[in-house]
Amino acid sequence: MTRAERLEAATRTDARVLDVTEIAGNPGATRAFTTQFAVDDVSVPLASVSGTVSVDGLLEGVVEGVVLVCRIRAELYETCRRCLEEGVRPIEVEVTELFTSFHAESDDETYHLVDSKLDLDQCTRDALAFELPDAPLRCEGSPESCPNLAAIREHGYQVEPDDRVDPRWAPLSGLITDQDKEN
Ligand SMILES: [Zn+2]
Repeated sequence: MTRAERLEAATRTDARVLDVTEIAGNPGATRAFTTQFAVDDVSVPLASVSGTVSVDGLLEGVVEGVVLVCRIRAELYETCRRCLEEGVRPIEVEVTELFTSFHAESDDETYHLVDSKLDLDQCTRDALAFELPDAPLRCEGSPESCPNLAAIREHGYQVEPDDRVDPRWAPLSGLITDQDKEN
């Protein structure tokens, strides 16, 4: 398989990557698109986006490359800063970005086309990360609207019991136990 064939195969299977051969560097040429793909966890301590995002918009050729104008729809998971109530809500982010055909050494801020392919991944992650609230307040209004606040005032924030194993570390706990047995 040649490099071009590999790229084409990757493009077919990867909904994040758009072929802009017909548009790049061709001012006035446009193409509408819509796609869906999974983003890796984009997160801050009390908020995150994960799972499938929908992206739809327009690709427009310009002398430097391609301008992407699109709307990203995703699910935002957030934890109330007052009472730690968790929830999820839809968010929409509007994006307008230039993807240049040529990579100037001096410029790390701009997105670039690679072999006339536009990869939506980094730009989508950047846009979503910018939207994440640093201190989400899920419960509108006064503190009394927080469902967990009475309990927190009485007992303080409930810390997870020490013996509860984070599911991500569960495979490790088996290893530790086996070692302990040998010792
Ligand atoms: Zn709350």
